[in-house]
Amino acid sequence: MLAKYAVHVEDSRGRRHPEPAHPYRNDFQRDRDRVIHSRAFRRLEAKTQVFTRRYSDHFRNRLTHTIEVSQISRTIAAQLNLNIDLVEALALVHDIGHPPFGHAGEKALDAAMRDHGFSFDHNLHALRIVEDFEIRYAAFRGLNLTFEVREGIIKHSHDYDAADHPELAEYLLDLRPPLEAQLIDLTDEIAYDTADLDDGYEARLLTVDQIAGGVSIFDRSLREVQLLYPNAPEKLLFNEVVKRVFDTLVGDLITNTRQRLDDTGADSLDAIRCHPGRMAAFSAPIEKERRALKDFLYENLYFSPALEGEKEDAERIVGELFAHWMEEPNDLPRSYREKAAHEPLPRVICDYIAGMTDPFIYQQYEKYCRD
Ligand code: MG
Repeated sequence: MLAKYAVHVEDSRGRRHPEPAHPYRNDFQRDRDRVIHSRAFRRLEAKTQVFTRRYSDHFRNRLTHTIEVSQISRTIAAQLNLNIDLVEALALVHDIGHPPFGHAGEKALDAAMRDHGFSFDHNLHALRIVEDFEIRYAAFRGLNLTFEVREGIIKHSHDYDAADHPELAEYLLDLRPPLEAQLIDLTDEIAYDTADLDDGYEARLLTVDQIAGGVSIFDRSLREVQLLYPNAPEKLLFNEVVKRVFDTLVGDLITNTRQRLDDTGADSLDAIRCHPGRMAAFSAPIEKERRALKDFLYENLYFSPALEGEKEDAERIVGELFAHWMEEPNDLPRSYREKAAHEPLPRVICDYIAGMTDPFIYQQYEKYCRD
């Protein structure tokens, strides 16, 4: 059933530390399971996606977002005859390197690092987590994941320049990642674009008229749904519209990627890797509408005055805690003090903060930064 251009588990480049085969799980299934059983995966539950818990218990957090990305990715991968085990492992691990407080936290951490001549990147951090920070096995540090999962962690969302990242040379930076990894970036977009509409509407930060006025793909479905259910309550109309937007994006991604595979005659993983651009893509008209939806969300939700206070909190808390530990490294837990003997202090502090959940970083802030 697996397409010729899919990743076949028996062709995996394998693990850093060779391990005996498992009697009934293949290597990608084991990687998926190792991600699920990691501490970093469990912490996703207490990390902000867009809305903090202050708003509602019903909104997405990074864990439920991750599960949604996994669901969408599996559906699409099955239609394209891709390796579902690999896709699922990549979806479940894709946000594991995110710091607390969503994108505001990521920006604040990067800014603090730049003051010391470094930077923060959540994909690179995710690789450090699975390679080094997770300590579960007696035989090695990290999760000892297969090459294909580590490659996907690095390359799913963008291409790193080989000249700027000599430490990533083993990940074939001059080649495209397999389709299984390419998918993740696009399903991530589908998941959060639709979920953020949903949560934004539920939070009463967005109205149906406002969205329909700014987002053509939403407006089209709304007209259709209003004819079908003239008497339905607005919330249910809204749900029906979001479902259609979702199906339009997913359906287009499947059809268009299949078309591109046919057009180029790609019949091997090498053909995917050597193709000049990424093969997984929306069609041009839907890509334009998706872009417009994303722009709408930036303008009306992510940058809305209602979320401004939380963004300022994130910047203040991350910034002040970072500065505190730079001045008082003895206030770091012992394992991090030991690390600082071999690694630059800013990197050690950054690793510590990036791993934190929202509640834990609040607690640390109360402890060290409130007089
Ligand atoms: Mg994501």
